[in-house]
Amino acid sequence: MNLVPQRFIFRLGFASQTSSLKVNSIPSHGRRKLSTITFSLAAPKQSGEEVLVVVGGGAAGIYGAIKAKTLAPNLKVVVIEKAKPLSKVTTQFVCQNFWRGRCNVTNGHCPDNKILAEHYPRGHKEFRGSFFHTHGPMDTMSWFSDHGVALKEDGRVYPTSNSSSTIIDCLMSEAKRSGVLLQTGKVVTGASSTADGKFAVKLEKHSLDYVEHVEADYLLIASGSSKQGYNLATQLGHSIVEPVPSLFTFKIADLKLAELSGVTFPKVKAKLQLEGIQKNIPQLTQVGPMLVTHWGLSGPVVLRLSAWGARYLSSSDYKGTLCVDFTPDLHIEDLKSALSRHKSQFLRQKVLNSYPSEFTVVKRFWKYILDCEGICGDTLWSSISNNLLFSVASLLKDCAFSVKGKGQFKDEFVTAGGVPLSEIYLDTMGSRIHSHLYFAGEVLNVDGITGGFNFQNAWTGGYIAGTSIGNLAGVAYNRVNQKLYTKTFGS
Ligand SMILES: Cc1cc2nc3c(=O)[nH]c(=O)nc-3n(C[C@H](O)[C@H](O)[C@H](O)COP(=O)(O)OP(=O)(O)OC[C@H]3O[C@@H](n4cnc5c(N)ncnc54)[C@H](O)[C@@H]3O)c2cc1C
Repeated sequence: MNLVPQRFIFRLGFASQTSSLKVNSIPSHGRRKLSTITFSLAAPKQSGEEVLVVVGGGAAGIYGAIKAKTLAPNLKVVVIEKAKPLSKVTTQFVCQNFWRGRCNVTNGHCPDNKILAEHYPRGHKEFRGSFFHTHGPMDTMSWFSDHGVALKEDGRVYPTSNSSSTIIDCLMSEAKRSGVLLQTGKVVTGASSTADGKFAVKLEKHSLDYVEHVEADYLLIASGSSKQGYNLATQLGHSIVEPVPSLFTFKIADLKLAELSGVTFPKVKAKLQLEGIQKNIPQLTQVGPMLVTHWGLSGPVVLRLSAWGARYLSSSDYKGTLCVDFTPDLHIEDLKSALSRHKSQFLRQKVLNSYPSEFTVVKRFWKYILDCEGICGDTLWSSISNNLLFSVASLLKDCAFSVKGKGQFKDEFVTAGGVPLSEIYLDTMGSRIHSHLYFAGEVLNVDGITGGFNFQNAWTGGYIAGTSIGNLAGVAYNRVNQKLYTKTFGS
């Protein structure tokens, strides 16, 4: 590490908090000038005091920082956040979620951790073990309730206030109360290990021309899906599973379908077929609600397919076929009989004006089906041949949509890929490559389907990492104190 001999004590502040961190400030290359850095306070680093640097003030980083600091009050915990802390929590609540409902901090549907694990396209095998047992959805709910956030639940869990600020305020005030230091507007751009087993962490500020080097005893990378976070992991010897988007909508080039924008289907069965994927992947068939948008299809079924098919879709250039069964609870023979019955009852009615009540579809969609079959809405039921009735039934059971791409970028909620779970110990979130290095949240090759599962991964990972670091730091502190005691008073 290229450190200059000058040493500075810079001050790090979380609002009015007072504390400090030892850093070296250097020009990163010849033309950079040493900048003036001022922070709000300082108390010199005490002998034996250890430092945890958390990269990223998102859900995993802040939750982990609070846990570590709570367990080891002597540990200096500094969260470095390049933008606004907990910004995704804000986005999440502002956007009012994936399926027109309220957004969620976790999911209370799965008391069994094995079932919970099945909601993670990346992570489902590894999460069957102790991961959620250590800190699962119920623990998350208790944590927020114990810290004054009233929650409500309908499977998904959200604050009764329906406001993101309740969650953000709770986490920020708990971080402040426990003494976590937060630095915003700085990017962690480099990390390497030092000869004495610590970390030299490089911070930069884009707006100013300076670099800082911070020495840390523990490093928690909780940088979400940021490329800089992946770079830090590789600098420290980890590999990265190529990041690809997960949880996106499907672009369907069908002008007639676009006219149905806003139409919802409470229950469809949809199967995603992709070229070159011959094997039968059960998760590429999903049952649930679907929504037509002005560019294609969305809703829980589509988002789930996009998550389970994220890697296959990426390698097929987001092209494939979506086969939708619009009446999954009815056998094709039941559909045919319903149509025949309806025809005989309503011979003199126009086909557009009435259709079997068993079909839980709206009239606009019924028209779409008739159009697809080339049937004019004014045609009387009496004029519809049995063959045509059967092909209407077949279309309702198996309607193929050509997927031409993924929805716009803003629909991509999480990233599949990141640090492989095989490179960390899930019971501590510690690196298998570097001691005292930890990861939590979306930086890992983990992603869940919609419904609070992605936040739960962040809370659990942050909690476990924070616990491991807090325990180690507590032991280290006691050891130093013991030595001091022995030196002063004898053994
Ligand atoms: C629009 C939207 C809606 C969502 N809705 C839901 C939902 O309803 N339910 C659900 O469970 N999940 C939802 N998610 C996903 C959820 O927000 C994420 O899975 C979760 O925030 C991941 O937490 P994290 O702490 O790992 O990462 P993040 O929340 O992304 O936090 C990482 C932080 O690190 C900072 N950072 C990155 N690199 C650096 C660096 N080098 N130096 C300094 N700072 C850095 C970033 O600025 C960021 O603040 C949604 C996501 C989006 C975008």
